[in-house]
Amino acid sequence: PRRVVVVGAGMAGVQTAVALREQGFTGPVVLIGAEPHQPYDRPPLSKAVLLGKAEDSAFDVDFAALDVELRLGVEVTGLRAADREVDTEAGPVPYDVLVLATGAYPVTLPGTEGVPGVHLLRTLDDAARLRPVLERRHDIVVVGAGWIGAEFATAAREAGCAVTVVEAAERPLAGALPAEVAEPMAAWYAQSGAELVTGARVERLEPGEVRLADGRRLPADAVVVGIGARPATGWLAGSGVELGPDGSVTADDRLRTSLPDVYAVGDCASFPSARYGERLLVHHWDNALQGPRTVAAAITGGPAEAPAYDPVPYFWSEQFGRFVQYAGHHAHADTLLWRGAPGDDAWSVLWLRADVPVALLAVGRPRDLAQGRRLIEAGTPVDPERAADPAVPLKAA
Ligand code: FAD
Repeated sequence: PRRVVVVGAGMAGVQTAVALREQGFTGPVVLIGAEPHQPYDRPPLSKAVLLGKAEDSAFDVDFAALDVELRLGVEVTGLRAADREVDTEAGPVPYDVLVLATGAYPVTLPGTEGVPGVHLLRTLDDAARLRPVLERRHDIVVVGAGWIGAEFATAAREAGCAVTVVEAAERPLAGALPAEVAEPMAAWYAQSGAELVTGARVERLEPGEVRLADGRRLPADAVVVGIGARPATGWLAGSGVELGPDGSVTADDRLRTSLPDVYAVGDCASFPSARYGERLLVHHWDNALQGPRTVAAAITGGPAEAPAYDPVPYFWSEQFGRFVQYAGHHAHADTLLWRGAPGDDAWSVLWLRADVPVALLAVGRPRDLAQGRRLIEAGTPVDPERAADPAVPLKAA
C-alpha cells in the first residue's frame, strides 16, 4: 500500500488523515507537525482560550485508534520530489503520496520581530502568552482591524483592558468588505469601549507607547499585531512545486499540485473555482474541513473519480457580542442588497449577480445564512424586491 505523508498537523492536515481513514484508505499515514502540542483548533484561540474559559482546543481525534503516526515538534525543511522524500531536522521521510498542509503564518509589523510586549495571535503559544496580558488589564494597542484584530479587541475589552485599534485603511475589514458594509461595523468598536483609529500608521514603538505617523502617542503595555497571514510555503522554494504571487501552492480542482502525487490543502493552497471564475485562496476553517475530503477521495479512488473541489466558502467570526457569518464570494461588480438596516442589531447583506445570490453576510441572522447558503450553492435566482424584505425568508423566486 502507498504511504501518505501529511506535512502540517493543523486542521487541514488532521482532517486529511481522518478523511483518508473514513474513506477506507488502509495504507500507512504519517502526520508531521512543527508545533510540539497535540494538534488543536485555532478559532478558540481568539475566543474562549484567550479568555481562559477553555484550557486548550485540542482536536478530539484518537490518532492511535486511526492508526495515524503523529510526529510532533518536527519541522519539515524541504521537499525532494525526484527522491520522493521530505527533509526534516530528524532526517528524511519517504513518501508515495505527499499532502502539503502547512497553513499560514501571521505577517509581522516590520522591525518588531522579537520585541518584548509585541504579540501575534496564531498559535496556542501566542494565546498562552497573551492570556496573562489580558488578566493584568493592560493598555493594549491592536494593529489591524481585520477579523483577528476585532476578535482580539472583543476579548481584551471583555477582560477589562483599555483597547485602541489602529487601522491603516479608513475602515475595518477594508480588504474583505465594501465600504457601505464595513462602515457600520466601525461603530461596534466604540460600543464595546474600544477606540478605533483609522487611516493611521504605526511609526515606531517606544517603551510603554506606540507612536503614530501623525505624531499621536498611544499608551501601550502590549501591542497585538493582526495585519494578515501568508501561506507557509517558504520551505518549498526550489522544490518544483508551483507557487502563486500570493505565496500559495497553486493546486488544481482536485487539489493536486504541479508535482505528481503531491496535494495541497487548507490555508497554504489556492484552487481554481469554476463557480466564481477565479482562483481562490481561503484562510478560513471550513475550507480546512472540506478540502481534505477531496484530497482523500483523490488519493483513495484516483483523482479522476474525485469530485472537483468547488465549495461555497464559509466562515464565521464572533466580535463585539455579534455573530458574523459569511458564505460565498463576491466581486466589486455584484449588486449589493440589504436585508435590514446597518444600525439594527441584526442585518444581512446579499450579493447578486444577475439576480443569482453569490454571497451573503449575516450579522445575528443565522437563518439568513443557512437559507442564503443553499441558494448560493444551487445558483437559483431570487426576486430582489422580496429578498430585500428581512421579514420574508430567503428563497428562490
Ligand atoms: P494551520 O492551522 O495554520 O495549520 C498548519 C500547521 O502546519 C501549523 O501547526 C504549523 O505549525 C504547521 N507547519 C507549518 N510549516 C510546517 C513545516 N515546514 N513543517 C511542519 N509543520 C509545519 N476561521 C474561521 O472560519 N472562523 C473563525 O472564527 C476563525 N478564527 C480564527 C482565530 C485565530 C486566532 C486564527 C489564527 C485563525 C482563525 N480562523 C478562523 C482560521 C482557521 O483557523 C484557519 O483557516 C485554519 O486553521 C487553517 O488550517 P490549516 O491546517 O490549513 O493551517
